[in-house]
Amino acid sequence: MKIAVIGTGYVGLVSGTCFAETGNSVLCVDIDAAKVDKMRNGEVPIYEPDLDVLFERNQRQGRLSFTTDLQEAVDMAEIIFLALPTPPGEDGQADLKYILGVASQLSKMINRYTVIVDKSTVPVGTAEKVRAVLGEHLDETLFDVVSNPEFLREGVAVDDFLKPDRVVIGVDSKRAADMMQRLYEPFVRSGNPIIIMDLRSAEMTKYAANSYLATRISFMNEIANLCEQVGADVDAVRKGMGSDTRIGKRFLFPGVGYGGSCFPKDVQALAHTSDQYGYSFKILDAVMDVNTRQRFRVADKLEAHFGDEIGGKTIALWGLAFKPNTDDIREAPALYTIDRLLKAGTNVRVFDPEAMGNVRKIYGDKITFCEDQYEAIRNADCLAIMTEWSMFRTPDFNHMKSLLKDPVVIDGRNLYDVQRMLENGFQYESIGRKPVG
Ligand code: NAD
Repeated sequence: MKIAVIGTGYVGLVSGTCFAETGNSVLCVDIDAAKVDKMRNGEVPIYEPDLDVLFERNQRQGRLSFTTDLQEAVDMAEIIFLALPTPPGEDGQADLKYILGVASQLSKMINRYTVIVDKSTVPVGTAEKVRAVLGEHLDETLFDVVSNPEFLREGVAVDDFLKPDRVVIGVDSKRAADMMQRLYEPFVRSGNPIIIMDLRSAEMTKYAANSYLATRISFMNEIANLCEQVGADVDAVRKGMGSDTRIGKRFLFPGVGYGGSCFPKDVQALAHTSDQYGYSFKILDAVMDVNTRQRFRVADKLEAHFGDEIGGKTIALWGLAFKPNTDDIREAPALYTIDRLLKAGTNVRVFDPEAMGNVRKIYGDKITFCEDQYEAIRNADCLAIMTEWSMFRTPDFNHMKSLLKDPVVIDGRNLYDVQRMLENGFQYESIGRKPVG
């Protein structure tokens, strides 16, 4: 099939590349000319495992190309995906200016039947808005609007896209539904479902899924904080809870709160939708409040440890990305921690295997960027762990002790065994855990 993808961010570029991988011709459009130039020259503009291999192969074999010219995409494509940003506005509402702006451009360009797909996360009712904008210049027989929310996770995006747990398609036209079904069949050969539903339900599904996951995180963070108070161990509690098949083992890990470009904005946007409809969605408010508190959990522990002296200390952070295997730092808890430490006058040394370039753009020389994880802790008063990159899981503890001024580790991701750390002579604090026995 002939596919255009508008917006080549984490979602657009992964979707476009994976559609090409199954044999489709894909043209990706972006307004960022420098980015398009890079991609034309074979450079993948984001870090996402496995993307480079697929990107190179499909570009070389002529199925994946890039342009800044929207008309070129309209002329070639049967299906146009909108993978554009939907950032939160000041009141938390998803800002639809990118989506509706491109829809307006498309309305003046399309001249034969085309399916327009909302791939971005958009509030309930957006497909109708897109249809209204398209309808200003287009006969309604020339297009259908589909909602096809994306569930990929950064860090495993390619795998998620190629083998999705499910594909959700909101649609009210048989013709468009058939085309979407045909496009996605290669991705669900093992039997995972393509779930076809109405437009509003598809839009709601994405917000419901992300808000539920955020709720699980905030819930576990509350349980962990309470474990610290009552002297329980959240690891044991998590295992005890998660073995119940009604609960399940995944997504029960406490930490420093959720971040990234999706959970914070999607929970906010759903809360805003509820407000608009006069519905008081109490859980969402609590989920957001808990997260706002939790992302300062490591900073709180550092302040509790060093007291008034924190200003003169040097603190090393391992991990900056909002989660491992990505260079994405949007809403990353590490940034909130850095801000608090800088405000207190603390010296901050950091290491992250992929995200340092993005963080440097924010802080410049206000913090020290280090070549590797050990360099970061050299002469530091303490190490704080902010992202659970695999490379941090089995470090050389003796080497760490020799580099740190004091063997203090505040672990926001519960990477190490508490008992072993204490036996190794570290002062070790994590989230909601205590030594065994
Ligand atoms: P992103 O910010 O990484 O990328 C957006 C891209 O769109 C950028 O390259 C930008 O230059 C481009 N763009 C902006 N205006 C444009 C225009 N008028 N024409 C062409 N290109 C334009 O965004 P993302 O993380 O890929 O997210 C896109 C959407 O997908 C959002 O709604 C997001 O909520 C949703 N989503 C994201 C994820 C994720 O993990 N990042 C997962 C699921 C859904």
